[in-house]
Amino acid sequence: MSDEETIFSLIIDGKIPSYKLYEDELIIAILDINPFSPGHTLLIPKEKVVTLDKLSSKSAAAVGRMLPKLSKAILEITGAEEFNILQNNGINAFQSVFHVHFHIIPKFPDGRGLQFPFKSTPIDHEEAIIMTEKINQIIIKGL
Ligand code: 5GP
Repeated sequence: MSDEETIFSLIIDGKIPSYKLYEDELIIAILDINPFSPGHTLLIPKEKVVTLDKLSSKSAAAVGRMLPKLSKAILEITGAEEFNILQNNGINAFQSVFHVHFHIIPKFPDGRGLQFPFKSTPIDHEEAIIMTEKINQIIIKGL
């Protein structure tokens, strides 16, 4: 594998087999090889970027268009009525394949699906006011 290549770029290039659910010029959807629950799917932009913040608007739009449709089909076929979207960016954020991707994970009443180990703390309001202002400015500048 070259520096840029990952298991997903090899799958996109057809060099490694996969259970392909959908493909167009911008995205591919495959079943995860090690699923949290039946129907666990990966929606992968073909663009070779590691994390979501680097993804082009064109690819992001293709992902956004397909996520609801794909989720609906997965629910219909698995019989699940609930699901999680998971999207990891960076090794400490549990990313293990360094090509941006979205997980669609059906959740079943018996517990199969994503388990939540995540911890939260109440918001710091002073920090939130400053952060809101700064992020607003960056977003407005980029529009
Ligand atoms: P991440 O931890 O990066 O968010 O998720 C990577 C996902 O890719 C994991 O859920 C893992 O099971 C899946 N995966 C890794 N290698 C392969 C593979 O060769 N084929 C498929 N279909 N999925 C893979």
